[in-house]
Amino acid sequence: MIQNIWCVGRNYAEHAKELGNEVPTEPFFFLKAGSTATLSAKEIQLPYWVEELHHEVELALQFDENLQIDEACIALDLTDREKQNQLKAKGHPWTLAKSFKGSCPLSGFFPVNDLEELKNLEISLKINGEYRQQGNTNQFVFPLEKLIDFARQHFPIMPGDLLLTGTPAGVGPFKKGDVLEAEIKGKMRHSWTVK
Ligand code: ZN
Repeated sequence: MIQNIWCVGRNYAEHAKELGNEVPTEPFFFLKAGSTATLSAKEIQLPYWVEELHHEVELALQFDENLQIDEACIALDLTDREKQNQLKAKGHPWTLAKSFKGSCPLSGFFPVNDLEELKNLEISLKINGEYRQQGNTNQFVFPLEKLIDFARQHFPIMPGDLLLTGTPAGVGPFKKGDVLEAEIKGKMRHSWTVK
């Protein structure tokens, strides 16, 4: 069971810059509720109160019963960007922009035997067949070990929790009728139709 989704912000320098943010000097985390996750669904349901959301394709790691990483998947950190910008301006938390119902679609999981396997992976997102986001986990601002250690030191990680490792540049809107196709090359691909 996924109780908590620990999300790293601004872990690809190009993405931090595209939203006008500074590249952080220590890991920056926010939370999505574990119950926002949908596993291997074929559809994304837009909440009734928004016309569009932003996609953030991410490598997600799962903690096992010993709080080691034994599996990974692709996550879409769906974001109501307009709402997030309003909340940021007021200095308010991002819960409504980041942790709404259905805001964390996941692909199926693939096994992780060694963290080294995750350090040079191409990650991408296409909308209706066109590339929107392309990056590589070798572009992380913070190495995987640092993110995992930081999370374990500061947060009450539970077995089954996810760690979302940040999104590469190219975030942008999608809307009803779009087909989102995410891939971590050689490991996993998954597509969703937006309803
Ligand atoms: Zn994100």
